[in-house]
Amino acid sequence: MLKRTHQTAAVGLAVITTYAAYHSNSFHCGIHPYLSVFITTNAAMLGGVAPDLDVPWENVPEKNPIKFVLNKLIYLAGDGHRSRLTHSIDLTILMCAAFVFSERILDVIKGYTDVALTQSTLDIAALILLGFISGWVSHILTDMATSAGVRLVFWGNTKVRFFPKKIGKFKFSTGEAWEDFFCFVASKLNIALWILYFAPSLGVSIYQRLRGFL
Ligand SMILES: [Zn+2]
Repeated sequence: MLKRTHQTAAVGLAVITTYAAYHSNSFHCGIHPYLSVFITTNAAMLGGVAPDLDVPWENVPEKNPIKFVLNKLIYLAGDGHRSRLTHSIDLTILMCAAFVFSERILDVIKGYTDVALTQSTLDIAALILLGFISGWVSHILTDMATSAGVRLVFWGNTKVRFFPKKIGKFKFSTGEAWEDFFCFVASKLNIALWILYFAPSLGVSIYQRLRGFL
């Protein structure tokens, strides 16, 4: 999928995960959820395009030194676009697991640093990580909705995709009509998600009015 589609999906998933995090018992964050969602969605826009740093360097948009190093590292590992490192389900799950255990990982890091890690620093770091990983996961899911798919495990060649390569003349490929449709639906869903996030009761009343209207 293209950058705009990945970022649209990334923002949508980040709104959902931020809402879910604040309604779970294990996520303790002192930042107000109305403010947090702007941090997570911005981080998600980065995470949502990060896996595609595996395209040839000349095709990487808005080049900077960090992207250069990451791009070269991916190619040093002998990969190309839709690489094993950034487009595999197992490594993505591993990344999510690392986030779940990040508090314990941070405890270990704290033992090696003199810099005081205040609670608000940790809260913001957790939100940036939550958003970035939500964006990354949304990237893998949206690439699974294309004919190229993603790898099940990074060491194997088994590809996973939601749809067949094509049905009749309709192709589930990047840049085709399928992508335009997908992006259109995702952007409209995002509007609904933002309304539900900031004003759940407004969302419910709009839903009830629409139901009455239909
Ligand atoms: Zn990709």
